[in-house]
Amino acid sequence: MLVVQKFGGSSVADAARVMNVARIVTETYAKGNDVVVVVSAQGDTTDDLIEKAKEINPGASKREMDMLLSAGEQISISLLAMAIEKLGYPVVSLLGWQAGFQTNSKYSAARIKRVNSERISKEIDKKRIVIVAGFQGLNRYDDITTLGRGGSDTSAVAIAASMRADLCQIYTDVEGVYTADPRKIPNAQKLDEITYDEMLELATLGAQVLNNRSVEMAKKYNVELEVISSLTQKPGTKVKEVCKMEKMLIKSVAKDDSVARVSIVGLPDEPGIAFKVFSRVAKAHINVDIILQSVGRDGTKDITFTVPAESGDAAVAALQEYCDQVGAKKILVDTDVAKVSIVGAGMETHEGVASKMFEALMDANINIQMISTSEIKVSVLIDKAEAERAVAAVHAMFFDN
Ligand code: ADP
Ligand code: ASP
Ligand code: MG
Repeated sequence: MLVVQKFGGSSVADAARVMNVARIVTETYAKGNDVVVVVSAQGDTTDDLIEKAKEINPGASKREMDMLLSAGEQISISLLAMAIEKLGYPVVSLLGWQAGFQTNSKYSAARIKRVNSERISKEIDKKRIVIVAGFQGLNRYDDITTLGRGGSDTSAVAIAASMRADLCQIYTDVEGVYTADPRKIPNAQKLDEITYDEMLELATLGAQVLNNRSVEMAKKYNVELEVISSLTQKPGTKVKEVCKMEKMLIKSVAKDDSVARVSIVGLPDEPGIAFKVFSRVAKAHINVDIILQSVGRDGTKDITFTVPAESGDAAVAALQEYCDQVGAKKILVDTDVAKVSIVGAGMETHEGVASKMFEALMDANINIQMISTSEIKVSVLIDKAEAERAVAAVHAMFFDN
């Protein structure tokens, strides 16, 4: 079997953890498997590197940021390889470019175009355990790129897809995917399995346990993923196309508190306004999430929408001129908001799921500012200060009997 194992930052945070990972990897290898390992930077290394850069130049170019941040993974691959050498197994560590990761040129958020896995295959043929630096690649100018925060998950899935691995295990600091963040909700339950679609929604809606692009790629190439703990190694959560028939109304509750709400007050109530607003936002490459438009009154209407927190000011900048031109009263941005969501394929066939969520929020006396739904999720925008309480209340409503 070819197994890809990915270890996140907390799993390789210090020497003891690195040795622990070396044991997991060599046990897998000793069972006769070919093993490719992807690792992230140790502990808070990536955050620390970002701080170091800020001390020198908060406006550093993204190219130089990628050059810096990719160093974190270089440390962990070599340390892990040394740990495996110590256990007496053949091993080689490879940077992203050595492992064949070709990306586009979007520094800090590069997309993988191709993994040319020839080198990895050669090393496997030599019976070596291959350790690959996650989160990084090379663009067509031979410059180092990084894939965006949490990108090592995607590196692992990309290798699994390109080499048609039999299994891709994502080792982390919790035992799997839970009904809510287990660090925030102590009685959250571990899920045995979850579908790609559900996991994709969850990851996009703020559950950081898997990076959403990795899930998207796993679904596209049908890579079976398992989220599992590097500390306990108990059976984790399988992410796959279909799950067993089950009665779960929803699978999990997620929270995203890096959201900004943008409101344009007093737009003309006439055709074409939504297009004119959102085409400007799109031109600025800003992702819009929930949209709400008020019913027109006295010839004017309001449009409110949410964007990632860091794009709030850019959205205003993109709209200011147009709003002045059509005489809109004002544009407001609020980052004291959070999005709380429930996700589950069960809601497709059961009515009343959304209202159950709203009931939990009513009972907790939490006001809903905006609502958005799809087949398998319901999201509400609320006051950021209430977000943790909202997750607890909604989780209790669905999972406490
Ligand atoms: P790694 O460093 O291994 O990549 P991350 O910190 O990126 O790990 O992701 C693991 C964290 O995701 C957990 O520690 C947990 O707090 C958080 N998390 C959020 N939502 C969930 C969830 N529904 N299930 C499991 N973990 C979750
Ligand atoms: N080290 C990178 C980060 O902290 C990549 C990863 O951990 O997946 O975002
Ligand atoms: Mg992660």
